Amino acid sequence: KDSGRANRQFYQHSMDGRAPLEELQLERLLRDAIQRHAFTLHYQPQVWLDDGRLAGFEALVRWQHPERGIVAPDEFIPFAEARGLITPIGRWVLHEACRQLKAWHDAGLPQVPVAVNLSALELRQRDVVADIRQVLDATGLAPRFLEIEITETVLMQQGTSAASMLAALRALGVRVSIDDFGTGYSSLAYLKRYPIDKLKIDRSFVTDTPGSSDDVAIVTAIIQMGHSLQLQVVAEGMETAEQQHMLRALGCDLAQGWQLSRPLAADQIPGWWQRWRQA
Ligand code: C2E
Ligand code: CA
Ligand code: CA
Ligand code: CA
Repeated sequence: KDSGRANRQFYQHSMDGRAPLEELQLERLLRDAIQRHAFTLHYQPQVWLDDGRLAGFEALVRWQHPERGIVAPDEFIPFAEARGLITPIGRWVLHEACRQLKAWHDAGLPQVPVAVNLSALELRQRDVVADIRQVLDATGLAPRFLEIEITETVLMQQGTSAASMLAALRALGVRVSIDDFGTGYSSLAYLKRYPIDKLKIDRSFVTDTPGSSDDVAIVTAIIQMGHSLQLQVVAEGMETAEQQHMLRALGCDLAQGWQLSRPLAADQIPGWWQRWRQA
């Protein structure tokens, strides 16, 4: 089943116009990048909409490519998955995000959590809970400062294994967010079945608000449903002050987006924080 999926992705990539030779070269470069840890994390702040307090950071991986410079995750994560290279990248991301957060806490930045993205394939291929336990141990970050972001598709595909994984994370004290909420094929039943802490409203529903009344209706419904299920609701892709006012008025708990900050390199975060707290 795994290799079937990997093959489909491989062919998709080939049909995207990458020649076999290019693919080989890309794979070699990516393997080399993994050995040299040629990745970097950017961090995007998340804030409370009612008072603007910092609520956390999402860690977003980038590849420092020798010729092309910084490569976005959408351009290499699917390829890494197809070539069986996602596990070492995911492990590095988890370790680096936890290490960085611990360093910021120790340096006096607010005691907020960091969110790490895990793809469906990663959850199938590695014992993520064991990895997480080991990384928290090694970095000294308390479990409540780690959030895992997964998409609803993951929950639908994984069935019982998802349930036991989420239960183990909950037992450990790690929080779980549903990413890109509203875009997957979901039966909403999983929201009540699984121990979930947060819903992240997909950016596609936020982008055209407040102009599009359909999108405002969808965003409103997600916030209300999330709250009735005692979940925190985060709006992704908040780009304008208008959207900020609307989301706040709708009672959305948290937001993330260019209106607050783009994802920033780690060394830019303390400066952003100084400016943010004074604004
Ligand atoms: P995502 O988890 O939905 O992350 C949000 C994406 O939206 C990020 O793109 C972020 O830069 C972008 N974004 C944030 N605010 C705004 C905004 O206001 N407007 C617009 N137009 N975009 C905004 P990025 O960093 O390119 O990441 C793309 C995707 O790659 C992520 O989507 C996530 O699915 C995946 N990804 C990123 N890092 C990792 C990782 O460490 N592991 C795995 N498995 N996937 C990752
Ligand atoms: Ca995410
Ligand atoms: Ca998302
Ligand atoms: Ca996404």
